Amino acid sequence: MKPKQALMALFLLVCTGLLHAAPRAGFYADYQKVTDPDFKEWNTAFRKERALEGIAEELNSMVRIPSPIALSLEECGEANAFYDPEARRVSLCYEMASELIDLFGEDRSEEEVDDLVSGTMMFFLGHEVGHALTDVLDLPITGREEDAADQLAVLMLSDGSEDSELALIAAAETFATWAEDAEADEDSFADEHSLDEQRLYNILCWSYGRDPEAYEDFVTDGLLPEDRADGCAEEFERLERSWNRLLEEHLITDSPMRRRNAESDDQEEAEEEEDLETVGYKRR
Ligand SMILES: [Zn+2]
Repeated sequence: MKPKQALMALFLLVCTGLLHAAPRAGFYADYQKVTDPDFKEWNTAFRKERALEGIAEELNSMVRIPSPIALSLEECGEANAFYDPEARRVSLCYEMASELIDLFGEDRSEEEVDDLVSGTMMFFLGHEVGHALTDVLDLPITGREEDAADQLAVLMLSDGSEDSELALIAAAETFATWAEDAEADEDSFADEHSLDEQRLYNILCWSYGRDPEAYEDFVTDGLLPEDRADGCAEEFERLERSWNRLLEEHLITDSPMRRRNAESDDQEEAEEEEDLETVGYKRR
């Protein structure tokens, strides 16, 4: 870089800092102004906790992206969550949290409702981040992008932490409740999203597939039909391998996904060696 260009770059950098604008690349927190008194209270609490900053930091330590992407909690005028490719913004609507509180609030304790709402919101954040990565990294996705985004949400919540496990259970419970309340009609069959029941069984299958021993109750309690459960370990392994390969050149070395990838590679190598020592083909 020539001295003049370097000065210009420095000038731009200072301006960016002063204006608190988006970084040049990476996820960043963006709290929008809200008018509803309840949402205002939540907004203040999240800002104080630096909730979005923490999530942005975690994502930036995991994957390198060439553009800035805003993570935003906002009042949208509808109960939803979405990614806007033009604005490069992941939006989680306060209305959605509010609707979930109404959905679960009647017959559950405050603590349970908190877990269900924050867990479901985390799942949807992961889902929208899936859309955002597909967009900015121009990832090839065959099949339905909505299913692929659900896969990434589950994968990102597969780090074995208690919060992540709770988030997956919460998302499954939300889809189960939505499925009970809604009747599948022509519009839902035509929709780009899979049906709520299908999204529910996918989450159960992939969670079980990651660790069949830990989630054995899903099958013994009849939540996940045995016929589906049989292939879940393979399904999870394949989706993990596929997403890791899609993100391979963008992952930062010590990211959780990269670490898991390296671990499963080591494990696979060890198992392959074992296979060579024993006789014949072993199906896993
Ligand atoms: Zn989506």
